[in-house]
Amino acid sequence: MLGLVKKIFGDQNEREIKRMRKVVDQINQLEPTIQRLSDDQLRDKTDEFKRRLANGEELDALLPEAYATVREASKRVLDKRHFDVQLIGGMVLHEGRIAEMKTGEGKTLVATLPLYLNALTGKGAHLVTVNDYLATVGYEEMGQIYKFLGLTVGLNLNSMSHDQKREAYACDITYGTNNEFGFDYLRDNMVLYKEQMVQRPLNFAIIDEVDSILIDEARTPLIISGQAAKSTDLYYAADRLVSTLKEEEDYTIDIKMRSVSLTEEGVAKAERAFGIENLFDHQNVTLNHHITQALKARAIMKRDTDYVVQDGEVVIVDEFTGRLMTGRRYSEGLHQAIEAKEKLKVQNESMTLATITFQNYFRMYQKLAGMTGTAKTEEEEFKKIYGLEVIIVPTNRPMIRKDLPDVVYKSINSKFRAVVEQIHEKHQNNQPVLVGTVSIENSERLSDMLKKKGVKHKVLNAKHHAEEAEIVARAGEPGAVTIATNMAGRGTDILLGEGVAELGGLHIIGTERHESRRIDNQLRGRAGRQGDPGSSQFFLSLEDELMRRFGAENIMGMMDKLGFEEDQEIQSGLITKAIESAQKRVEGNNFDMRKVVLQYDDVMNQQRNIIYKQRREVLEADNIREITLNMIYPLIERIVDAHCPADQVPEEWDLQAVVDYANGTFLQEGTLDKNDIWGKEKEEIVQFIKEKVDSFYKQREEEIGEQHMREFEKVVVLRAVDSKWMDHIDAMDQLRQGIHLRAYGGTDPLREYQFEGFEMFQRMIESIQEEVAKYIMKAHVETNLERKAVAEGQAVNPSGEAQEKRPVVRRDDKIGRNELCPCGSGKKYKQCCGK
Ligand code: ADP
Repeated sequence: MLGLVKKIFGDQNEREIKRMRKVVDQINQLEPTIQRLSDDQLRDKTDEFKRRLANGEELDALLPEAYATVREASKRVLDKRHFDVQLIGGMVLHEGRIAEMKTGEGKTLVATLPLYLNALTGKGAHLVTVNDYLATVGYEEMGQIYKFLGLTVGLNLNSMSHDQKREAYACDITYGTNNEFGFDYLRDNMVLYKEQMVQRPLNFAIIDEVDSILIDEARTPLIISGQAAKSTDLYYAADRLVSTLKEEEDYTIDIKMRSVSLTEEGVAKAERAFGIENLFDHQNVTLNHHITQALKARAIMKRDTDYVVQDGEVVIVDEFTGRLMTGRRYSEGLHQAIEAKEKLKVQNESMTLATITFQNYFRMYQKLAGMTGTAKTEEEEFKKIYGLEVIIVPTNRPMIRKDLPDVVYKSINSKFRAVVEQIHEKHQNNQPVLVGTVSIENSERLSDMLKKKGVKHKVLNAKHHAEEAEIVARAGEPGAVTIATNMAGRGTDILLGEGVAELGGLHIIGTERHESRRIDNQLRGRAGRQGDPGSSQFFLSLEDELMRRFGAENIMGMMDKLGFEEDQEIQSGLITKAIESAQKRVEGNNFDMRKVVLQYDDVMNQQRNIIYKQRREVLEADNIREITLNMIYPLIERIVDAHCPADQVPEEWDLQAVVDYANGTFLQEGTLDKNDIWGKEKEEIVQFIKEKVDSFYKQREEEIGEQHMREFEKVVVLRAVDSKWMDHIDAMDQLRQGIHLRAYGGTDPLREYQFEGFEMFQRMIESIQEEVAKYIMKAHVETNLERKAVAEGQAVNPSGEAQEKRPVVRRDDKIGRNELCPCGSGKKYKQCCGK
């Protein structure tokens, strides 16, 4: 059965290659004509293609000529003529698929074809690499082709300024790393002025080493996190104030809306307590927020009804089922306010400001393609999760590398002794050896053993990409011994030195099998490139982690019975087969785990898309008057709904509550009277209040001035969206971490998470609307308005490797001594961090 399936897949691949070979013939036939063009005429081709596109021709139709043009340009500027199979690779990429091309087949050059073709639309084409070094090399070398043909090319590095980045993104073709592209996206969605965005809409991307980015790193999200821990003192201070306030006199409660508002008396008390002039002043946002939450915590949240205190923690009680919602926290600082009220330790607000996984970032491109030497083993995952098909592109020359069967030893010690022995032997013959290890620790261990034996060698740990690339490039020289961890020197070509081919080429030694066959294949693939001779062999021991996981003990017992000595090796196809099937099992498990993670991630992704899309609308609009009012209207509907329920007769409606809330939130104190809405239908009440809001809004607009109002609205809406969204990210994160605790009792944690996540999102939207309403209609407006970020952030990739070069969000503007401290304390900078 399996054989049959394989055959169908195999055939399909062949069919595709056959189809593309026909196009290769076309391109080859164009060569003599193209060859005769002068440099200028060749460059004119670019304009011609653009014209034809503008006249409605499809990219597909241009492909043969465009590829012939790029090939010719490459011949002239780099002296490299794309091989036929490279043209095929270029077609696979243009079709938005993954091209599996072995190491050394020249993927860097392959990418120039679809990049050029797709860049003709002017919408941008990105080439994504795993590190800065590879991006820079690709940009510098391949960039010559694009420039020669009259296209612009840019490089996007973390070290670049905002303007440089913007320029790089404006280019027809942009090279950069996955981290940087992703972080730029997140940062673009935190800016306050549209001019601060650096990216254009995401059009076409080719991911180099696509397996490493989309599979190995699928589970490590990019995170922009806050800089300084927010002070928790303010929660206690707000709670102290609130504990002195009296209901009715200082504040009123709206039980149905579960909201509280200070009366004028209450506001005055707060202002006196904190020594400020106006609580609703733009400067006092943080304080105001803390007081509101403290008030909610004291006046609305009831211990042992809404929450319980357990082991020094506040645990939420589900209002319908009474279940403890372990792990979940109230958002927007309410949880902290309750902690302050209960005199517990206030948990620091976690600091994630924005986050996205590579998977979700790259799925946003109009068209996505990838290339790697090893994709076939993960074909199903690419297909199912990303909709990317894998096409195996034939090698330019036949592959003649010899992959020798594994050798297995009883212990790790005996294995390493044998490895050193083999290195020594090859080294004496002058044959170069590249040894792959799974950890830096193992690299050092081997290095020590080799030193004792007097074998000269180099060790690479994937720390200094540029230097290590240089060392790896020389790993094929006579007698070279290079020890490298998996990641070290990736993407660098190993050329064979003088006379090495006659010695059998580069020999690869693997010292442990990886969980995934793909990683093993990557190591092997470093030898035997472009038809070079080469060989590879894995040395294993029954004590290796992977072997232990799959019942190596049985084999061990057998070996003992058969009287195997410590240093004796077993070469057995049976063991190799057993290992391979074990690997397949682990790969399957890992895929399943990633799938689950991605399902969880989808929830956040949908929410992020909604928020970012609307945020962008606000940012790009000149006038958000409509948007603002449309955020206030639903609030009116909700409050009327809450107090005028359909199952009550109008006499029972709590119109006073409606009046209090409306006056307290979005109308001038005293403008709405109970008599105004008495005897009206529900819809009429809503309509009546809407009109009041409209006219009060107009009045504010006149007072504040048209121009200021426009800016003020943007400040308020962006700030509300950002701060609530950031809180929401945290809350969702907490929810996710705690959700498995609720997996018992037959509930499906994923569904639970989706359901609650949706509820929380709804509540966040409502809370944004309420905040916008309050500030737009109530706040005192200063004339020197300026948009300020809710929080400053630092970009972090939690996978260990990238952390040391974690990009930091630049701070463009210096902080004035009298400005609010960016740490969020609510104090002036000079009285806080700027002391
Ligand atoms: P890969 O990333 O597929 O392992 P590279 O892009 O690093 O391979 O290319 C391997 C080497 O082959 C590089 O030195 C490159 O310049 C060279 N090369 C690629 N294509 C050609 C070609 N058509 N003609 C000559 N040299 C080529």
